[in-house]
Amino acid sequence: MESRSALKIWEAALGELELQVSKPNYRTWLIKTSGLECQDDKIIIGVPNTFVAEYLDKNQRSLIERTLIHVCAHSLKPVFRVNNPNKDAFRENSLPIETDTSPILTGQKARLNPRYTFDNFVVGDCNRLAFTAALESARQPGQVYNPLFIFGGVGVGKTHLLQAIGQQALTDQRKVVYVNGERFTSEFVGAIRNQQMDLFRNKYRGADMVLMDDIQFISGKEQTEECFFHTFNELYNSGHQIVIASDQSPNKMTSFSQRLRSRFQWGLTADIKTPDLATRRTIVKNKAQHTGYEIEPDVLDLIAKQISDNIRELEGGLNRVIAFAKLLRSTLTPELAAKALQDIRTAPQLSSPQPEQIISAVANYFQLPPEQLTGRKRDKATALARNLAMYLLHQESGISLTEIGREFDGRNPSTVSHACEKIAADMQCDPTLNRRICNFKETLFES
Ligand code: ADP
Ligand code: MG
Repeated sequence: MESRSALKIWEAALGELELQVSKPNYRTWLIKTSGLECQDDKIIIGVPNTFVAEYLDKNQRSLIERTLIHVCAHSLKPVFRVNNPNKDAFRENSLPIETDTSPILTGQKARLNPRYTFDNFVVGDCNRLAFTAALESARQPGQVYNPLFIFGGVGVGKTHLLQAIGQQALTDQRKVVYVNGERFTSEFVGAIRNQQMDLFRNKYRGADMVLMDDIQFISGKEQTEECFFHTFNELYNSGHQIVIASDQSPNKMTSFSQRLRSRFQWGLTADIKTPDLATRRTIVKNKAQHTGYEIEPDVLDLIAKQISDNIRELEGGLNRVIAFAKLLRSTLTPELAAKALQDIRTAPQLSSPQPEQIISAVANYFQLPPEQLTGRKRDKATALARNLAMYLLHQESGISLTEIGREFDGRNPSTVSHACEKIAADMQCDPTLNRRICNFKETLFES
């Protein structure tokens, strides 16, 4: 096989691996790899250095082999080969202890990703407060909300906002330090070890703005926390902007000292919720435009609906769908997209509707009386409606098969289970049904 297909196979495999391993894991070991060529039953994968080659070979081989089987329907042995024209490209991730306490870092060195700007941040109900506050803090540092504390789950846009603040501040010629909890810790440890605490302190003290991402990483590290406490006070007292991102609200961060937690709340605390459907739709649409790949609206809609709790996964889903289409050299249809996404878990819904709500909504949709759904009639339409109602109850209401059976004239759990499996199987091979059910679920939750 020629190198073109190695590239595509590995692209598709990366799309899957991204969803299977943790974010730091993916970033550290996989992000800078590429498919170089296929030779017989082997695929040569280019990696940035021997360290990564060894790590992947020892620790990720079986996962990678399984993923490759899934992607190309036959087994391929991964061989890792060092292939890095730019040796420094990997430094940030592979340095175990940070000894760089050089004064203020700006631009590229401030570790700001130019992709993360306010302009390409999609604003919706889930993130409006955080976005507005971020924008204000960037425009008037230290003046409006200090500190600004942003919290939310994984992949909802915290880092994006912090970096956007940083980009804006850099444009305004301000000195910015962007750091995450992990790096702050290793810088601190490095500074102590190398007796460079003065340098370390100056770096933070001298900044107009400190953006501290993933602060949860320093929890439980007493000395680092103490150090951050003093850094915070110095910055605050000099009116410099502090922006913090965390996976939890300050109230819940009980492993932090009370005095630090209370400081977190001195300014504004803004949360980012899981993205609503409208926001997800816009995000997928925007991201798709940047891929340069023409994707029909039905496909975009399917991705936005199927992946609901995390924007990073949404991007991963889009990449995966594109990689699939490229790999199979076929047009990107909703059917193909559904297939590409079939293993991706959909998020649990926030509040579960009551069983009777689901039953009456389904009955209404099929224009049948609810008693007919729960009764014994067995014509095709009734049976489909009943199976669907059971399936939705099982999926969305969190009650057991036995309890579901009870709602349906005392049917036994195995009948319920059979109905659920049937709908799930039909949905998998019938994208139209899949789409109809997704739409229906959406109206269910909206009402
Ligand atoms: P977090 O730091 O909360 O885990 P990130 O900021 O890393 O999440 O976001 C994950 C990915 O999703 C990034 O590629 C980011 O650009 C994208 N993203 C998140 N929120 C939005 C949004 N509102 N608009 C556009 N892209 C977003
Ligand atoms: Mg982040």
